[in-house]
Amino acid sequence: MDQSTIKKLVAENGVEFIILQFVDVIGNLKHLELPISQLEKVLEGEVMFDGSSITGFTSIENSDMYLKPDISTFAVLPWSEGKEARFICDVYTGDHKPFEGDPRSCLKRALEKAEALGYSGLNVGPEPEFFLFPLDENGNPVFTPHDEIGYFDVSAKDRGQKARQDITRTLNAMGYEVEALHHEVAIGQHEVDFKYGDALVTADRIVTFKWVVKEVAAKHGFYASFMAKPVARINGSGMHVNQSLFTASGNAFYDANDELGLSSDARHYIAGILKHARAFAAVTNPTVNSYKRLVPGYEAPCYIAWSCSNRSALIRIPAARKAATRIEVRCPDPTTNPYLALALMLVSGLDGIENKLPLVAETKENIYHMSDSIRAEKGIDALPADLNEALNCLEQDEVLKSALGRHLYDAYVSTKREEWDEYRLEVHPWEVKRYN
Ligand code: GLU
Ligand code: MG
Ligand code: MG
Repeated sequence: MDQSTIKKLVAENGVEFIILQFVDVIGNLKHLELPISQLEKVLEGEVMFDGSSITGFTSIENSDMYLKPDISTFAVLPWSEGKEARFICDVYTGDHKPFEGDPRSCLKRALEKAEALGYSGLNVGPEPEFFLFPLDENGNPVFTPHDEIGYFDVSAKDRGQKARQDITRTLNAMGYEVEALHHEVAIGQHEVDFKYGDALVTADRIVTFKWVVKEVAAKHGFYASFMAKPVARINGSGMHVNQSLFTASGNAFYDANDELGLSSDARHYIAGILKHARAFAAVTNPTVNSYKRLVPGYEAPCYIAWSCSNRSALIRIPAARKAATRIEVRCPDPTTNPYLALALMLVSGLDGIENKLPLVAETKENIYHMSDSIRAEKGIDALPADLNEALNCLEQDEVLKSALGRHLYDAYVSTKREEWDEYRLEVHPWEVKRYN
């Protein structure tokens, strides 16, 4: 898409407002709205904002920043009836240099590293899950699931179905290709899957997806939550990330001569993911609550292992081969900052490839049912038990620290340490009940 196409689309749709979007260090979507009279300035990348008011960006002494729109992300917002359009932007410093604290720039750096190693790109297919909660008479969410049905259930009472269909229409109108929509395992839980794509495009789409789901859910009288474990003792919401590296000649993870159809690149990449998982969990599972999902029994992984079919392992290899050969990393949840999550998983896999890390044997048994001693015997480590442990692991991981870069690393870890401390200072209802 070029500037003249944008101007044509703006005129055709009668666009009145341009929304410039980016994410903060944690992955919260931010946006600045401008009337269409400012389009020229927007396209020239001359729109400024105050970086000191964005989590993890800059100090007040050095706060002027620029938003440079990525023209390919232009989308007219279907729910605004053509009156609003958005761009996702790269963040630049006051002296017009890419800002190293911009999560999008971190993913770009990781992709450049893959390119330097001879890969043309990383294909990513995410599976974001979410809950729909009802609203009370004041419009506030009530965190009790809105229905009583489960996986693939058919019910005339499934009000979520209409919302899922509307989410699908909206996403498709914005250029997505939705592949499936369904009720998930937990009561009130849903999934809408869209087609895999290039890593940067997909990270942009994940951010946009969460926004669209919240907007459309609200129109149906629901609050959409991407929290990892909003309701205790039922399945939480994950965002499995299917991934495969490509070269000019095709899928680098496929090898027709291997007994499992996996190339040595795939095996080393998996080994890299297994090696760094305890550290990248601080990003892929970024909240205190994320670790309440990573417990046995709810289809979420808790142990660092891989398998061709086993859903209790961190990495599963879906059955498809040839061009569709991929690995599914199952720990991420939808509260993650997708730019940082994809960057860190990619760099972990590349570390495995560069250093030819050997891959441990596949774990075929259900790890939830394995005793601690058998797990220890097999060398199967656990994912961190909480955010604090994950942050400690990230602090020890030089490969991931350098992939984040100094600014992002410091900003991310200090923000998350504050979150952990805030949690530690609270006395939770469970404690009061249990100890009285
Ligand atoms: N909801 C499960 C999780 O927490 C995943 C279920 C599935 O396999 O789709 O990861
Ligand atoms: Mg699912
Ligand atoms: Mg899956």
